[in-house]
Amino acid sequence: MNKRLGKCPYCEDGQIEVRRIEVNAKPTRLYACSNAHWKFDLDMAELSEDATCGFRIFANQFLRWNKKSISENEIRTVLQEEQVRVRLYSSRAKKEYYKWAVLDEEYGLSVLWDIDIQE
Ligand SMILES: [Zn+2]
Repeated sequence: MNKRLGKCPYCEDGQIEVRRIEVNAKPTRLYACSNAHWKFDLDMAELSEDATCGFRIFANQFLRWNKKSISENEIRTVLQEEQVRVRLYSSRAKKEYYKWAVLDEEYGLSVLWDIDIQE
């Protein structure tokens, strides 16, 4: 059985699980609801027909902001507190910065760009 991180916020009885997957032949993790199955085709993820819940967060989904991987602890936090502080890195300014990320049904996690976090 896959490791479970908390209750799914989008359905009755779902649990968020850690699944090891490969995207473009690179191993990463997908955090997904136990009521969802996914099919992978290169870098496309598609819900299978028997899935009843669309919760999913790719561990590498903040890669474009230089965050290599969203950790299991960060997922636990966002499931419990509805938001989590994430460390991102600006290659233009060459420095790290922090933002809040919140659950988003369409994107998994989304960054609240308008809110600055003082360190
Ligand atoms: Zn669910």
